[in-house]
Amino acid sequence: MSLSWKAAAARWLDMAYPRWCAGCGGPTADAEGFLCWNCLSAIPFVQLPFCARCGDPIEGRVDHAYTCYTCTADEIHFERARSAVRYRGVAQQVLRAFKYDAALWVQSDLDRLLHGCVESQFTDLEADAVAAVPLYAARERERGFNQAALLAAALARRLRKPFLSGVLRRIRPTPTQTHLTAPQRAANVKGAFEVRKPVWIEGQRLLLVDDVMTTGATVNECARVLKEGGAARVYVATLARG
Ligand SMILES: [Zn+2]
Ligand SMILES: [Zn+2]
Repeated sequence: MSLSWKAAAARWLDMAYPRWCAGCGGPTADAEGFLCWNCLSAIPFVQLPFCARCGDPIEGRVDHAYTCYTCTADEIHFERARSAVRYRGVAQQVLRAFKYDAALWVQSDLDRLLHGCVESQFTDLEADAVAAVPLYAARERERGFNQAALLAAALARRLRKPFLSGVLRRIRPTPTQTHLTAPQRAANVKGAFEVRKPVWIEGQRLLLVDDVMTTGATVNECARVLKEGGAARVYVATLARG
């Protein structure tokens, strides 16, 4: 009996990418993904309490609806941001492998996490289409892909919404934000994006996707230009939260 196309492809993939856990390197019995049960159960999910606006988790106990200092003091252009996991531990390890080592086979695991977050944190009617935070063109050529666009495209398929590929463009390179303070990050991304096809977003409610959100400066600047370009609302979903 001949193998189905899918089974043959899966067998080839097993040879090309042995089923070792992307978190700990041990064998994985999970037929669907590339994380073993130990690593899956160690994923640091974002849990309450967190800021009602930007989703930033806080330590300790809060019994009332809470908005963080940044969302009170700064101008926030997105309606609401939510993230699936904290950017630490096994989640950070897998996301770094995906992004910097092109371990693209872990994407199905990441897709499930992001989709689960969106399903639980947003209603179906809140977004008309999905967009992604763009990379600067030279950076994307160097890496070979834009991790946010891969996640956004997969999420759009799962949500059965259009993915507005390339609707945003990064018009200048921005130095890495890792060692910058929050105000420096905001200045770093100011004016770094433009809307390429305003006609695509006129009056649309958008779900903007990025891989990691730290201070929120990048997604906030993207939300600002999307709204300036005609978007009615911008919601933000990121896989991880720093
Ligand atoms: Zn593992
Ligand atoms: Zn906040």
